Amino acid sequence: MSITEFIIKYEKIIRMSFFFGMLTLMALWEITARRRQLTASKPVRWANNLGLVFLNSYVIFLLFPAAAVGVAWFVQGQSWGLLNFYQIPFWISVLSSVIILDFIIYLQHVMVHAIPVLWRLHRVHHADPDFDVTTGARFHPLEIILSMLIKFSVIVLLGPPIVAVIIFEVLLNASAMFNHSNVRMPEGLDRVLRWIIVTPDMHRVHHSVHDDEANSNFGFNLPWWDRLFGTYINQPRDGHEGMTIGIHKFHDPKQVSWLSGILILPFKGKMSGYVINRRQWSNNDEG
Ligand SMILES: [Zn+2]
Ligand SMILES: [Zn+2]
Repeated sequence: MSITEFIIKYEKIIRMSFFFGMLTLMALWEITARRRQLTASKPVRWANNLGLVFLNSYVIFLLFPAAAVGVAWFVQGQSWGLLNFYQIPFWISVLSSVIILDFIIYLQHVMVHAIPVLWRLHRVHHADPDFDVTTGARFHPLEIILSMLIKFSVIVLLGPPIVAVIIFEVLLNASAMFNHSNVRMPEGLDRVLRWIIVTPDMHRVHHSVHDDEANSNFGFNLPWWDRLFGTYINQPRDGHEGMTIGIHKFHDPKQVSWLSGILILPFKGKMSGYVINRRQWSNNDEG
């Protein structure tokens, strides 16, 4: 059996093993070195956030049984996609696919913050009043479907090796759980890690109630995009322990913590302003 056949056959088992492995690892790390005190009950948030994860997995399984790996396999068979046009060494193909897919996720993340109707879906992720390993997988089913469709389109255009797609999926899932975790790390280690991967302290800034902080640090895997495109904020102004996590308007536990409330959250309230119009200009601003 070739590596490609193995991946196609065991795709779900590979992804699930990494998910549960990483969840266990980060959960234990959170217990031994906690960064912040949780504001809500841990059993309640875990039951509801993980309930949403299982619901999403089921929806995705029903809608897209072949998953991203299946799409990549089909595209390869048709010799579609940019990477199949050229004779590129395999490892360069794998590496560039993972980096390009990560860049697309960064752009997608900026887009769901900027476009009001997409922000409604994405605010399910931000309405979590706490920040721990389960926040990393907490997305509205409609946002998950949107992500899948974007990912499929990129795979069709790019034609990445199947190995690259599974590496990317596992890496994105594992790093999302790592960078959302409520763990304390030595400052020096955080600073060094930040050059190669998004750390929990870096991504926590993105979950601040302050608009400017929430509209920064969009990266999930590689921290370079934020530095390169000017969306990087080093630390939250209220400090990691003092900062408030969540969204201004949404505090009711029934709405932000319970699965029933989370699912209808995108349909609540009036359409808010276009984020680009929310910019505040002052005379001191250079940009
Ligand atoms: Zn976000
Ligand atoms: Zn996040």
